[in-house]
Amino acid sequence: MGIDYIYPQFEVIRDPVRCINCRLCEKQCAGGVHGFDKDRGCMTTDESKCVNCQRCVCFCPTHALKIRKSDCTFRDNANWDEDTIKEIYKQAGSGGVLLIWRTGKMKEITRDAEQEDDAEDETPAD
Ligand code: SF4
Ligand code: SF4
Repeated sequence: MGIDYIYPQFEVIRDPVRCINCRLCEKQCAGGVHGFDKDRGCMTTDESKCVNCQRCVCFCPTHALKIRKSDCTFRDNANWDEDTIKEIYKQAGSGGVLLIWRTGKMKEITRDAEQEDDAEDETPAD
């Protein structure tokens, strides 16, 4: 797996004093954000999958969880908006392969992909 250069949008903050390792958050999170490390005997977190639904916060019996929007956002830039910068990061993560974003899917630029896109552009609207 390549390096993910995009900082997670949300931070999952777990108070270790309040957490009783009941693993309820792990069962309730559909995104698989929470896990349990048996060797260390503590909860683990993969923040990159969090969508800020707050379900785990509601179910935590000891109020040990907070979900917060990350402070590590992109600075305002006169030339590039946030989505464009994220696309550039994804391109960097691909090893420099040029990618295009069309019809909801990221795909590598190839002669076939360019021809497909040209054909779509030329299709008359109904
Ligand atoms: S639900 Fe709360 S107390 Fe239980 S493991 Fe998760 S954070 Fe800890
Ligand atoms: S806020 Fe939602 S997506 Fe994020 S960790 Fe909690 S349950 Fe999972």
